[in-house]
Order: sequence, then C-alpha cells, then structure tokens
Amino acid sequence: MIGRVLSRGGGVYRVHMDTGIVDASLRGRLKHETASRVLVGDLVRVDVHDDGSVTIEGVEARRTLLRRRTPGRRRATRPVAANVDQVVVVGAARSPDWDTHTIDRFIAVASASELPTIIVINKSDLDDQASAYGDVYRAIGYDVHVTSVTAELGVTTLRESLRGHISLLTGSTGVGKSSLLNAVQPGLQLRTSAVSARAGTGRHTTVAAEMYPLDEGGFVVDTPGLRDIGLWGLAPEDVSAAFPEIAATGTGCRFDDCRHGVEPDCAVVSAVTEGQIASSRLTSFRTLLAEADEASRPWQGR
Ligand code: GDP
Ligand code: ZN
Repeated sequence: MIGRVLSRGGGVYRVHMDTGIVDASLRGRLKHETASRVLVGDLVRVDVHDDGSVTIEGVEARRTLLRRRTPGRRRATRPVAANVDQVVVVGAARSPDWDTHTIDRFIAVASASELPTIIVINKSDLDDQASAYGDVYRAIGYDVHVTSVTAELGVTTLRESLRGHISLLTGSTGVGKSSLLNAVQPGLQLRTSAVSARAGTGRHTTVAAEMYPLDEGGFVVDTPGLRDIGLWGLAPEDVSAAFPEIAATGTGCRFDDCRHGVEPDCAVVSAVTEGQIASSRLTSFRTLLAEADEASRPWQGR
C-alpha cells in the first residue's frame, strides 16, 4: 500500500492513506539506511501487519525537494519537505502594510528550491488599491490572488489553486495565513508553535514540517519553526534565478558580471529608468545579493 508522510516525531511517522491516517515506523533495514531521509511529503510503501502495526518499507522517487540553506555555510542545505509543488506567498495589503521587499525575499527562497510561486494579497477589504500591489508580479508572470477573509473575497479561487497540489503557505506573521486556511477549509487548525509537547511522554519534539490533507485533494504544508521562510539563507545564484526579468535584461549590460549597481552601461538600470523594470525589484535584488555574498564568504574570525 502507498501512503503520504504527514509528520514525523520520535521515530513515529503519521502516514495518510486512502483508508485513513496511521502511525508507522521504519522497517529495521530502512532505519539504518535512510532514517534521516524519510521526509514529510514523501510517498511511502507501507505494510500493515497482523498485529495492526504498520511499517514503512520504502520511499518512492521524489518530484521536488524543499531545502533550507544554512546561512553562512555555502554548500550546506537541509531537506525540509518532499514533493511540495508550489509555494503560496501571502502578504497583507494593510495591517501589516504591503511589503514588496519581503515578498521578493519569499519568492527568492521558493525559487532556490525551484518551486513555482503564487502570490496572495490578503486583507484587500482594508485597501482599495490592494490589487495594484500585484501589478509588478503579474507583469513578470506570477499568479496573483487578491483575497479577503473578512469580506469572503478570492477564497474560492484560492481553494481551487490548492486542490490536488502540495502547497507550502508562507508569509510574515499576522498577514492572515491561518485565517485563509481556515476559510479554505474550516476546521483546519495549524499548530502555532515549533515545539509540541507529546502528551504523556513529556518529550518535546521539534516539528520541522507538517502536512494537512485537504478534503478536496492535495495537502498544505506548514513549517511551524521555520514559518518565515524569508529568514532562510540564499546563495548568490539563488538570487539571480529569482529575478528572471533582471537576468533577461542583464544580458545587455556592458559587463558580463554586472551586479546592476554602480557599473557603467547597465541595461537593468536603464530599464528601471524607462519603467520597464520595477525599481522595487532592483532594490530587492541588490539587497538580497549583498546579503547572499556576505553569507557565503568564508568565515573570517567574526
Ligand atoms: P497569520 O499569522 O499569518 O496566520 O495571521 P492570522 O490568520 O492569525 O491573522 C492575523 C489577524 O488578521 C487576525 O486578527 C485575523 O482576524 C486578521 N485577518 C485575517 N485575514 C483578514 C482579512 O482578510 N481582512 C481583515 N480585515 N483582517 C484579516
Ligand atoms: Zn547591469
């Protein structure tokens, strides 16, 4: 039988199957070979034994891998979840104010794992201009949803784009992620803390990632301890890949290694002056690139 790993803690894997959710453990052999490699989101082959116990016998090939880069360690990444196929970046139009730089940062982290991104502008009831914040992103080719949980706007469309997918919802605190998920599927309650006390055992388990099945098919992934994926590290090449419009225009710069800062004959700076590239995007690009360079520099006795 085949199931999907929803969460993992203390050697117990919660596995979602057509027949329901079961607790499973790794088969002895697998424990030694790949203990650290069975991830939330993995599609696993399970055996149900006569005594009712369930073991994970194998892991199916992954389609994607969400990785978290360890800041300051250029090559170090840690797997967070398998088979996530889209990242939903949520921002609020107001309260807190729309923050395009934070959105760009989230997009860059998603793009570092080569995952497509959907942008949600929530709390549109608080700002008549809400939809306009999305123009920059629509122009680059992103899907933008304008929603309001309070006014019940855009929730149906969001539900449709989650259906059948494994989606990671992310965004700053207070933008309305939990409210949106509850509107999409009433009763879906995300854990609010990175640490969960396991009842009875008194043991504390850090939950790296956890998936919730959607009634209409698909899953939503939450990363309680890492919910602000904007804090995840970025490598310089991740930053370039996350700004496709800058990369495309940058082929016209005088210098091949132009950073679109103070270099002469920079095609990107010209495109910003002419209004073809949003200046907010160039600002984000420069900030994230400087940060990524700093983080990837070898340790110098700091
Ligand atoms: P999270 O931290 O991203 O999960 O945000 P929450 O879902 O906890 O929402 C933060 C606050 O914003 C709560 O008080 C919500 O009631 C409120 N909120 C969420 N969505 C909306 C919305 O569309 N419009 C308005 N006006 N308030 C909202
Ligand atoms: Zn340039």
